[in-house]
Amino acid sequence: MTDTLDPLLEGLVTELPAGTVLTAAEAGPRHHSDWTRVNACAPRAVLRPRTTEEVAAILRHCHAASQPVVVQGGLTGLAGGATPRPGELALSLERLAGVEDVDPDGGTMRVRAGTPLAVAQAAAEAHGLQLALDLGARGSCTVGGNIATNAGGNRVIRYGMMREQVLGLEAVLADGTVLSALSPMLKNNAGYDLKQLFVGTEGTLGVVTRAVLRLHPAPRERLTAFVATGSFTALVALLRAARAAFGGQLGSFEAMWQNYFEFAFEALKAGARPFAARHPFYALVEVESLDPAADQARLEAFLAGVLEDGTAADALIARSLEESGRLWRIRESAGELMQRLGMPVGYDVSLPIARMVGYLERLDAEVPAVLGERPLFVFGHLGDGNLHLMTGVRALAEAVALDRVVYGALAGFGSVSAEHGIGQLKRHWLPASRGPDELATMRLLKAALDPRGILNPGRVL
Ligand code: FAD
Ligand code: ZN
Repeated sequence: MTDTLDPLLEGLVTELPAGTVLTAAEAGPRHHSDWTRVNACAPRAVLRPRTTEEVAAILRHCHAASQPVVVQGGLTGLAGGATPRPGELALSLERLAGVEDVDPDGGTMRVRAGTPLAVAQAAAEAHGLQLALDLGARGSCTVGGNIATNAGGNRVIRYGMMREQVLGLEAVLADGTVLSALSPMLKNNAGYDLKQLFVGTEGTLGVVTRAVLRLHPAPRERLTAFVATGSFTALVALLRAARAAFGGQLGSFEAMWQNYFEFAFEALKAGARPFAARHPFYALVEVESLDPAADQARLEAFLAGVLEDGTAADALIARSLEESGRLWRIRESAGELMQRLGMPVGYDVSLPIARMVGYLERLDAEVPAVLGERPLFVFGHLGDGNLHLMTGVRALAEAVALDRVVYGALAGFGSVSAEHGIGQLKRHWLPASRGPDELATMRLLKAALDPRGILNPGRVL
């Protein structure tokens, strides 16, 4: 840090270990935006604490100076939450990283907020356990970011969202107060469950510094089936049949509409086509198995049944990890493929499965007026009622018009964000999913915990 410093930064440089405070130039463009790259902006400086105490010291100084701060984890967010706004300091958790311990008997792990999800997953696996949260950004997203966004991903149908994995939490409030509730207990009804204030609130109420996470036994194998159906009704029937057949062993049920599958398959040059014919819908079905030989036979029988009764149009079981990886890559490359769509626009809507046909019919009728011939790709976590829509627009005005169609058609029954959060990008649409009293209560909480509005201002509310 060599610039002429204002008193705030000078105070921080003096109090914190060398290398903690970097100029924006020293830190590099990585800190200018999250994965969306929308409204990228250099922060005033980047602060990289290594401990909770350093986070507390930073926030004490910023609170005293009413200096706005943007919290940054792995910067894979899809709502612009971690993208700086002009004049903000970036508080990066990337060096507050590492798994502190794993308790195989209790089935818990204590982990620092900046730990990449994949690192935490690997530490659990080393003990024959699993951290059940899983998403395509696992190599870069951080556990703190996962908590702040209440991330969902591919195994929600079986294990719930990040909220369900958090047993204990440590967070630093806007004024530097450290709330340490790192309890590994599953059951704890002693008063308010304050940790929930920091799950899914996108860094607006506090900075997550450490957490105790719940672990589950790891399956011996994950069996992957790829199934095609001729209609949406058949896809829903397949989901229902898979739930009935495999119960708690159903680990994932990921749906892809034909337009997304073809786009991803071609773009990835993903090898041999899984099926000779093209089908309107595809599902990637994963069964968690503790007894692979028996479960393989059950999966084969299940697929034979749904083929015979006409629910499935075609089906296969991945015969190797490599084949399963290839199929998963088609589904998981959405984030990477999005970057090829010119000015990419992605949606993350939630709605009851029973409303999906009507919703998508309305989009089919209204979207061409905005996009013309260009497709709106559809895929998502069908079992969770969560659809992802993705396309490229030519101008900002087109994105605004598309928002109106996609969110307008959800009014009264859906949510504008199933899992990615509101951030900066969906802020204006929050009232479409939350009532005035809910919004007023959110503002009350924000004012109580961050009276000077320094934590992630302009996000969510
Ligand atoms: P960032 O992007 O750095 O930050 C996200 C938000 O959290 C910001 O508001 C930030 O201020 C806040 N924040 C970050 N760290 C902290 C902290 N320690 N304390 C307080 N606030 C903090 N999301 C899903 O839910 N499901 C998916 O299936 C999914 N798949 C994805 C696939 C790809 C390829 C990509 C690129 C993204 C995907 N995402 C998905 C979105 C993203 O990965 C998640 O939102 C993830 O949880 C963000 O973590 P992060 O560390 O990158 O957070
Ligand atoms: Zn998703």
